[in-house]
Amino acid sequence: MSKKYVLKFSGLSNGIHEFEYAINKDLFEEFDCEEVLGADLSMKVNLDKSERQLILDFHIQGVLQVICDRCGEEMDLNMEFERRLYVEFGEEFEEQDVDLYVIPFNEYSLDLSPFVYEYVTLERPMRCVHGETEGNNQECNKEIIEILESPMEEVEKETDSRWDALKNLKF
Ligand SMILES: [Zn+2]
Repeated sequence: MSKKYVLKFSGLSNGIHEFEYAINKDLFEEFDCEEVLGADLSMKVNLDKSERQLILDFHIQGVLQVICDRCGEEMDLNMEFERRLYVEFGEEFEEQDVDLYVIPFNEYSLDLSPFVYEYVTLERPMRCVHGETEGNNQECNKEIIEILESPMEEVEKETDSRWDALKNLKF
């Protein structure tokens, strides 16, 4: 696992601290995510540290390269969103809630990568289509669309003739 997204909080004074990370394809490769072809995202993390807990405010912005569900070509997905994560200290690692994570008292750093991966993955729309999905104003590859649409018509015609044949049989 890469140490790129590890936030070391021990040694920091109580109060606000800011961190910046560049999120690239490596994060998605680490989680074997094949749906994301590339990423150029910037992430700012605002950490509010106190004795009993850490409050992390994420601001993620940039472009994700995904596959268009209609033409199968690459498309850019612009995104910008924020998330808050509460980290409390306890006996052992435990995900208490979607936004509340418990880590042992003796931990001195937190790997942000599983959180960031989940945030970005959830932010990605279920269906990504050129020009239709929010965050994209590109166009589908016309040649591919033409090829995709032409056999569909033939299938329809074939189905129609089969129906005709059935009608004849009944008669
Ligand atoms: Zn497309």
